[in-house]
Amino acid sequence: MTITQPRPHSALGAHGSVLVVNSGSSSIKYQLVNPVGGEAIASGIVERIGEDVGTVKHTFAGSTTQRDEAIADHGAGLRVVLGLFEEIGPDLAAAHVVAVGHRVVHGGSDFTGPALVDDDVIARIDALAPLAPLHNPANLTGIQVARELLPDVPHVVVFDTAFFHTLPDAAATYAIDQGVATTYGVRRYGFHGTSHEYVSGKVARVLGRRIEELNQIVLHLGNGASASAVRGGVAVETSMGLTPLEGLVMGTRSGDVDPAVLIHLQRNAGMSVDDIDDLLNRRSGLKGLAGENDFREIHRLVEEGDPSAQRALDVYIHRLRKYVGAYLAILGRVDVITFTAGVGENDDVVRALALAGLEPFGIAVDPERNAGRKKEPTTISPDWTSTRVMVVPTNEELAIARQAIATIEKAGLEGTSDETDPAPAATGHA
Ligand code: AMP
Repeated sequence: MTITQPRPHSALGAHGSVLVVNSGSSSIKYQLVNPVGGEAIASGIVERIGEDVGTVKHTFAGSTTQRDEAIADHGAGLRVVLGLFEEIGPDLAAAHVVAVGHRVVHGGSDFTGPALVDDDVIARIDALAPLAPLHNPANLTGIQVARELLPDVPHVVVFDTAFFHTLPDAAATYAIDQGVATTYGVRRYGFHGTSHEYVSGKVARVLGRRIEELNQIVLHLGNGASASAVRGGVAVETSMGLTPLEGLVMGTRSGDVDPAVLIHLQRNAGMSVDDIDDLLNRRSGLKGLAGENDFREIHRLVEEGDPSAQRALDVYIHRLRKYVGAYLAILGRVDVITFTAGVGENDDVVRALALAGLEPFGIAVDPERNAGRKKEPTTISPDWTSTRVMVVPTNEELAIARQAIATIEKAGLEGTSDETDPAPAATGHA
């Protein structure tokens, strides 16, 4: 399939559209985004790649088309997706796709911003595979098949780690033998950076403030969860580390544990490295504590009087509050605390419990303002507090699309900058 070369103007605005691709080990999520208006023109997911029956769901103009068929590999999956764009719409040539933006989980110390894909960038992402064995090879497969099938548009990679390349040395360093640390790249990188950067930038725009003036805590609470401290738009702390396992309690991930737990289980429970990987990444967190990883289920079970679910909620909130307290100490003055992602945007109980009793620090949540799910940026603190508490829906696809546009503009591949709600400038020195 061939897409016509970028033209400077189209019905979708000066920037046309960006196809955002998030490729996992057995899935590909995609969204065709208008980077100016911010809306998803079409979106979908390919699941169960390599199994007997795979699924493709494609949503356009309010309706979803589903195909159930064997999808041998990522190339086959993407071919089905491109077929659905042709058959159901929107027509990709008419949508004037100016770039494909790829989410890549681990950029190591190497990538401090988005990068235009070429063979060298591919080789460098490949070299980072030992740091993210589940994610980077899958991301790379998606990039390679997308480049083959869409060869006429620039491809841009946007890294989950990039926003956190500014972590001060004291925050990024584990207190272990530095010879070992340096040889094996063992340091704190941070993840969900695209979301933390987007949300902290959005907060400043919504409040009409310069981001340089604001000290912020961002709580990205989804199935994966992370917290960050952002001083003047620059990330100075975050809860995830070498991998996205450190920090908060998550849907199926443990977050912080004493590292000696691993040694203990290897020595005394006969668990292999793979067993422990599976335990901490897939059988822990809310799932490990209560058998459910979705907060809607946790709340239902709590209402039924289930003690495991109550404990899961208590452990989750306790850990979250510990991080909020730590980041208050790191930032000194906190202007805004923002909740985002699936739990942060939808769960008023978690939001209220996370910040309850912090009035002596000038932090409070107003029950009426907090009530319900939030689809738009909303202040949920009362007027008297020194720290504003907000809910701001994240939009990682839009952030990736805008970073892709900024990157191709910087490379001189495409036109103008006329965004009404501009992206943070691409920080790429990759
Ligand atoms: P995300 O990874 O950002 O898509 O978040 C997914 C998680 O958000 C789910 O596992 C749920 O725990 C949570 N979630 C989604 N909708 C709701 C809701 N209405 N109330 C509480 N939690 C929700």
